[in-house]
Amino acid sequence: TANIIDGKKVAQDIQKELKTQIETWIKQGNRRPCLIAILVGEDPASQTYIEKKMAASREVGIESKTIKLPVTSKESEIIDEIQKLNKDDSVDGILVQLPVPEHVSERHVCNAVDPLKDVDGFHTTNIGKLTLNSDTFIPATALAVLELIKRYNIPTFGKNIVVCGRSKNVGLPITLLLHSDAKNELPGGEATVTLCHRHTPPEELEFFAKHADIIISATGVVNLIKSHMVKRGACIIDVGITRITTKDGKTKLVGDVDFEGVSKVAEYITPVPGGVGPMTVAMLMSNTLKAAQHILKKNSA
Ligand code: NAD
Repeated sequence: TANIIDGKKVAQDIQKELKTQIETWIKQGNRRPCLIAILVGEDPASQTYIEKKMAASREVGIESKTIKLPVTSKESEIIDEIQKLNKDDSVDGILVQLPVPEHVSERHVCNAVDPLKDVDGFHTTNIGKLTLNSDTFIPATALAVLELIKRYNIPTFGKNIVVCGRSKNVGLPITLLLHSDAKNELPGGEATVTLCHRHTPPEELEFFAKHADIIISATGVVNLIKSHMVKRGACIIDVGITRITTKDGKTKLVGDVDFEGVSKVAEYITPVPGGVGPMTVAMLMSNTLKAAQHILKKNSA
């Protein structure tokens, strides 16, 4: 059976490393890094994610705060709030928890954040830089996937990778990182990446998946990846998170992968929960330290 990729453990290791780096940064006479999250409305999943980000900040020594705005907030009110934070020199990282309410444009809100404080990496400028392999804030989920692959020494050079899901915040950045040249400012995976999405016919998805050395699924479609679609010895990274109700009426989180079946053929597999999720939070912390250290220069933004 497959080796479990323990995202929870790796995330804890990374957070310990970050804590040390942050203490060193402060000992050198710098201000404690500061992350501000904006939460619009009361979506329960968003509240949980925000709590996890705040808890991780406390653990690594990042000062953090959540600004809660009512669901009825106008787009202009949210953008005003962001602009105040952009101007505030005591704030290093700003994120707006997505999704925003229907009447608000996600793109307008993401583009209101100063690209140098955009720790989610969702600003058009930063997505453009990612596309060109220039140094930028890599969206945390994509960075989480890359970091797990690296820390488990899973080769990507010249390998076949299937990514399921093409969202701009998750599937696309994962694809951008893994297909690209390693000899750039950003780490590239040097893999042949096939990006599948909702209009990939199931038999085609199966065909591509069977040829993949690594399958990364980020769809929210429960049981999308089943054992007969997986090559023996493949590595499976499950990004999906779906809350389901079990027969006894309890709810639990599951991924996109039939974990039990796929574990029998894969060599490596991430669990849900305890895989990519905790790593995403750890990588956000890493991006916040990067913002505080002003590693990205204003003139290149
Ligand atoms: P999204 O709804 O924006 O995108 C879903 C993607 O899945 C789309 O691109 C769609 O084309 C694709 N898709 C749908 N049906 C498919 C099918 N049958 N075959 C192949 N592709 C199909 O969602 P998202 O924001 O990209 O998130 C994807 C999943 O990842 C969700 O379950 C979300 O909860 C989870 N997520 C996890 C983390 C984490 O840290 N682990 C972070 C972000 C999102």
